[in-house]
Amino acid sequence: MAAGPFDHDKLHEECGVFGVLGKPDASALTALGLHALQHRGQEGAGIVTYDGAHFSAERRVGEIRDTFSSEDAIKSLPGTSAIGHVRYSTTGGSGMRNVQPLYAEIAGHGVALAHNGNLTNSTILRHELSAAGSIFQSTSDTECILHLMAISDQHGVVDRLADALRQVEGAYSLVGLGQNLLIGVRDPLGVRPLLLGSLDGAPILASETCALDIIGAKFVRDIEPGELVVFTPEGEKSYSPFPKMKRRFCIFEYVYFARPDSRVEGISIYDTRKRIGAELARESPAEADVVIPVPDSGVPAAIGFAQEAHIPFELGIIRNHYVGRTFIEPQQKVRDFGVKLKHNANRAAIEGKRVILVDDSIVRGTTSQKIVKMVRDAGAREVHMRIASPPTTNSCFYGVDTPEREKLLAARMDVGEMNSFIGTDSLAFISIDGLYRAVGEPGRRANAPQYCDACFSGDYPTTLSDRASGRAQVQLSLLSERE
Ligand code: SF4
Repeated sequence: MAAGPFDHDKLHEECGVFGVLGKPDASALTALGLHALQHRGQEGAGIVTYDGAHFSAERRVGEIRDTFSSEDAIKSLPGTSAIGHVRYSTTGGSGMRNVQPLYAEIAGHGVALAHNGNLTNSTILRHELSAAGSIFQSTSDTECILHLMAISDQHGVVDRLADALRQVEGAYSLVGLGQNLLIGVRDPLGVRPLLLGSLDGAPILASETCALDIIGAKFVRDIEPGELVVFTPEGEKSYSPFPKMKRRFCIFEYVYFARPDSRVEGISIYDTRKRIGAELARESPAEADVVIPVPDSGVPAAIGFAQEAHIPFELGIIRNHYVGRTFIEPQQKVRDFGVKLKHNANRAAIEGKRVILVDDSIVRGTTSQKIVKMVRDAGAREVHMRIASPPTTNSCFYGVDTPEREKLLAARMDVGEMNSFIGTDSLAFISIDGLYRAVGEPGRRANAPQYCDACFSGDYPTTLSDRASGRAQVQLSLLSERE
């Protein structure tokens, strides 16, 4: 499930967050939590701790197993409270300076923030703040929040944070660390997940339940959209500092981003993916001998499809989990090679068969094309592809790395053209209503959709001020850094 160097043809969730207050081994727990959230970001990770007197911070480029698994790394982070972050690449590009949590001292108080999501007015805010004298240390959108906190006329970390967040638009699930203070906050639409757990009575904040499971913590509840919750050694206080809005959780979390063993917003990801497969089987059946998933993310939907259609499920494509970062190369030639490094057809399950291939999505279509060819080369008589999401026709501005709209296959072609392009005998996507049914809704309410589904519908739940202003996101970095 974790995105690797050859997942360029997938959408990427950009971040995962974790926080704990009141545990002596806070940094080790955070490293474990981040390890469970690794699928939400592999490019960099960071942990900030507080020991009652001082903050300590470590930010490193790479995966948790390479960056925070050693005793030395954990020892350098003393304290009973901690927050952590894994990142793919948020607004501002990759590089050490953008690895979170970000830390600042504001009016004599230390504060660290870790952000999952993306602000859609950060470029405008950045220009305004810079013009007023703010000096930015990173190119990350999250830094705007710290600068807005610094110039706020409110007192205290919590009020300054609420004041800053009233001025941003877009998606944010944030964890914050102050002096004996752990904060969790979700944007009013609740686009990205954030939940509360408990480990022997100590509060844990995390993007997904898999980060609770790994440390033996219990799930308590989801942080509500628009809720700001503050934990101190004295207890928990919940605030609602933003105008109330209708919840618009990202429906793609169910299709692809979240780990299948997580429950998100009270719903099992694995069960949902199986229901998506069953919906697909009812909506778009095909005469076939085997149902084969494109691993790993297509597996639960393929199981659901096979069970509903009463067609045998087979592992017809084997994924090599040991494709390392050694092979990262931007050139198309190496990318082409990469598909074969990562996947191989299992001839024994395919030869002479009519195959239904199940995948979670089609982005550029180039990987699907190669996988279909691989399955045909292994002797498939027919290849029918079924996709567990509606056609991805629009970019995401809420913390998911998507190519520009022109590069999305479904933005350029209808389903018939896509079928010819990827070389299948038939191609079908789940309908948007089918997807809503799989997550437990009767269908999509056209005038008031229950989820964010903008990458399928183009119906963005917030204003997109940066895009409307025509200003490009900040990418400029004059400083080259050693990593
Ligand atoms: Fe999720 Fe798509 Fe909305 Fe982005 S645009 S938040 S990926 S549903």
